[in-house]
Amino acid sequence: MKKQATAALIFILSIMLVIAGCGSGGGNNGKNTENPGSSPSASSESGNSANTAGNKENGAKEEVEAVSGASELSYTPLDQLKDSYDIIIIGAGGAGMSAALEAKAKGMNPVIFEKMPVAGGNTTKSSSGMNASQTKFQKEQGIQDSNDLFYEETLKGGRSTNDQEMLRYFVDHSADAIDWLDSIGIRLNNLTITGGMSQKRTHRPEDGSAVGQYLVNGLVKNIHEQGISLFVNADVKEITEKDGAATGVKVVFNQQDEKTITAKAVVVTTGGFGSNMDLIKKVRPDLEGYVTTNQVGSTGDGISMIEKLGGTTVDMDQIQVHPTVQQDKSYLIGEAVRGEGAIMVSAEGKRFGNELDTRDKVTASINTLPEKAAILVFDSGVKSRVKAIQQYEKMGFVVEGETIEALAEKINVPADQLKNTLETWNNAVKDKKDGEFGRTTGIDNDLSAAPYYAIKIAPGIHYTMGGVKINTNTEVLNKDGKAIPGLYAAGEVTGGLHGQNRIGGNSVAEIIIFGRQAGVQSAEYASAH
Ligand SMILES: Cc1cc2nc3c(=O)[nH]c(=O)nc-3n(C[C@H](O)[C@H](O)[C@H](O)COP(=O)(O)OP(=O)(O)OC[C@H]3O[C@@H](n4cnc5c(N)ncnc54)[C@H](O)[C@@H]3O)c2cc1C
Repeated sequence: MKKQATAALIFILSIMLVIAGCGSGGGNNGKNTENPGSSPSASSESGNSANTAGNKENGAKEEVEAVSGASELSYTPLDQLKDSYDIIIIGAGGAGMSAALEAKAKGMNPVIFEKMPVAGGNTTKSSSGMNASQTKFQKEQGIQDSNDLFYEETLKGGRSTNDQEMLRYFVDHSADAIDWLDSIGIRLNNLTITGGMSQKRTHRPEDGSAVGQYLVNGLVKNIHEQGISLFVNADVKEITEKDGAATGVKVVFNQQDEKTITAKAVVVTTGGFGSNMDLIKKVRPDLEGYVTTNQVGSTGDGISMIEKLGGTTVDMDQIQVHPTVQQDKSYLIGEAVRGEGAIMVSAEGKRFGNELDTRDKVTASINTLPEKAAILVFDSGVKSRVKAIQQYEKMGFVVEGETIEALAEKINVPADQLKNTLETWNNAVKDKKDGEFGRTTGIDNDLSAAPYYAIKIAPGIHYTMGGVKINTNTEVLNKDGKAIPGLYAAGEVTGGLHGQNRIGGNSVAEIIIFGRQAGVQSAEYASAH
């Protein structure tokens, strides 16, 4: 019943997306005629329409195309479907597309099946950036960082519960992932910082805009250029197996035609389960009623499909609640806003904690306030350094005041107190010492350039740290720790890397690092079978 309802929802969304594409006059349709029967363009706003209701990022298309220069992109028409491929990749987020590109580079013929009408998944929504250490961009900008420091800070952030082998592989391959993206036209050379780290290692597009749409546009463009088949509205229901080895999938196209497609290897990159409220309630009953920042397709399908094949899971109850979510539209306000200098105040106009502590701690501090919500306050300097704020303005989240008093009146906090709070903070920035709460990062610029701005936020479900267990070769492991032959997984569908708390910026790094590894390893397996 629930599955039927989900299928119906996806079908309705598809229709809405096609209508939106026709009506937009945005030129997507013209491109799609090159690929008759294909779905709407990845670069259309429909990418966001497919996300959580209310998360339509109006105007984002212009911003992304201006950044990436990506041409309009289309998907593979169904009449080009084959019965068999070398490698099947389930899910067209960042992990899936990275895997496909690496598998193709190894001479394989991979295919991607995506259940939504557009590629991108939660990757499209990612905002602050991608963490990496010892990168060429850090070196160019004189940032002293090391893989060991990245390792230590991630381990500390995850309360030492991270899978340490995975973590070592992760940090040691992070710079290479930045180089690889750069080599395929995706340049992340603007550096910022997120909670729980001491160095600027969060890489984002040159103009400081959100990472996700730029990344997805760039990846889809490469998928297109490499001639990799990417089918949308292709909902994988089951991974088939023979004698314990993965042999292919059962996939339903356009909610109607089920087909069995075979392959030598299967890569599962279906993302997390942040939109599956039933599963969240089961593993974390305390989170009932929270909003989610996730796209509707993040339902944890890969986890259940892998469990049927004997795969095991880790950390399923470790769900990250993000402290700064605009509640009416379940819209994430990226950590870069704080990283670039914003503070948070209560309804009394007072700071109440270190805004750049790890997400769990910042969330806990907000939940101590009687209103269980807070207000981000920043100046025009922060606004100029974080392009995403333009998007938040378009969405109607940002309140502006020419002076601190004017802002205080608009957000209904005592003006004297807010002035006092900002003065104290600006002195802390000057002295590079936050005597109140010990904040040591995002303290480079004071908040003194009018106009002033505010965004009201509260915590929301954001990321599922748990998932299927893999090793550094991205092989899916069973309960005995043995690899299931021909079955690979990467990205948010997997668990273990982040332990009990993910550091912001580490997931985009994870999907590129382990997505690529899944492509390489599945290609090696497929070549040998
Ligand atoms: C609002 C927001 C902001 C974020 N910002 C950041 C950030 O700045 N930095 C950072 O590091 N992380 C960030 N994250 C987290 C990060 O974006 C995700 O964890 C990451 O992109 C997941 O990538 P993925 O490839 O594993 O999954 P996804 O990108 O979610 O892709 C999985 C795809 O699989 C598809 N799928 C699912 N089931 C099936 C099925 N049965 N058949 C076919 N297809 C299927 C889904 O529809 C989806 O398209 C953010 C997340 C959100 C929600």
